[in-house]
Amino acid sequence: MKFETLVIHAGVHPDPSTGAIMTPIFQTSTYVQDGPGNHKGYEYARTQNPTRTVLQENIAALENGTYASCFGSGLAAMDAIIKLLKSGDEVIASNDMYGGSFRLLDKIFKEFGISTRLIPMQDLNLVRDSISERTKLIWVETPTNPLLNIVDIQAICEIAHQKNKWVCVDNTFATPFLQKPLDLGADLVMHSATKYLGGHSDVVHGVVVSKNQELGERLRFIQNASGAVPGPMDCFLILRGIKTLHVRVERACENAAKIAHFLKEHPKVNRVLYPGFTTHPGHKIAQTQMKMFGAMLSFDLKDESMNAANKVLAGTKLFSCAESLGGVESLIGHPASMTHASLPKEERMKSGLTDSLIRLSVGIENADDLIQDLKQAID
Ligand SMILES: *Cc1c(COP(=O)(O)O)cnc(C)c1O
Repeated sequence: MKFETLVIHAGVHPDPSTGAIMTPIFQTSTYVQDGPGNHKGYEYARTQNPTRTVLQENIAALENGTYASCFGSGLAAMDAIIKLLKSGDEVIASNDMYGGSFRLLDKIFKEFGISTRLIPMQDLNLVRDSISERTKLIWVETPTNPLLNIVDIQAICEIAHQKNKWVCVDNTFATPFLQKPLDLGADLVMHSATKYLGGHSDVVHGVVVSKNQELGERLRFIQNASGAVPGPMDCFLILRGIKTLHVRVERACENAAKIAHFLKEHPKVNRVLYPGFTTHPGHKIAQTQMKMFGAMLSFDLKDESMNAANKVLAGTKLFSCAESLGGVESLIGHPASMTHASLPKEERMKSGLTDSLIRLSVGIENADDLIQDLKQAID
């Protein structure tokens, strides 16, 4: 089946007891057993919930994987992945990774003896040279947030696998509609389903997918043992959001391309970071590993002051100033003071995340209205 069919049908069956076409929200903590140990595959809702089961099967299919485990947030999903490691192991990650992901590694797992090395992941030689005996996992984000750097997933997987290391791709920005990391060799793919998979800014959720049985089963064990599971209502909302994933992402990508071209021509705009431009250093790789160029872009102004950026943020009416991304509505953000405030300034500047950088999550409104809104705010 093709992607557009999978989003609607994979794992989803009419409810056998009523014929309900939509997966019911199984709001229950436990399941009655006919006798001790004699049950229908469901014992206790931390371990399993039928709404969650359907969602896990659906997302596994979208990523061309076999095993999916859902969590209460994207970071809870990452937390479970890092628990595959043990004290003394090291993670290699991008120096412009999502701030919350860095905080989890740096403030929580470091205390348990799992260290993190941050590098610019686009530099493949540096990736190769940075892998040590202790390295266990390479954590890839692409496109990166908010600098829209593109990392060559296939090349990283080849380097990692020569040295027997795992690769996990945070596929939040691209979604499985645009990019399929497992097909490119990744061992694990993770999402903040809060963003495009949910797509309506109404739920926080996370997921990990793999086609490796051992990893898949260990993650399922951690899901139950650590217990950061999502509620059934949240699973239902993600399932519902996914049904329109391809339609939403396609439209948002088209809008983003138009906005990127508008910004590039604007006299007050300095850089526009958008992988769809042929001048973007990752353009060729993006073209091969992504179906479209995504709906996220960043830009900064010729006036580099924080104040100039703040004026734009305060001036938009359709673009709402908010954290998060991937919803149907367009958002505008200031990474240095919002999403990336938990990255040390030194790390931020090193990677080009300046104080005047503005990030857009382009929604599915009318593109001309969005351009008009940005124009009046920048002018
Ligand atoms: C939002 C986000 C996360 C964290 O996910 P939550 O659902 O907020 O816990 C991780 N990675 C990326 C790229 C994100 O955008």
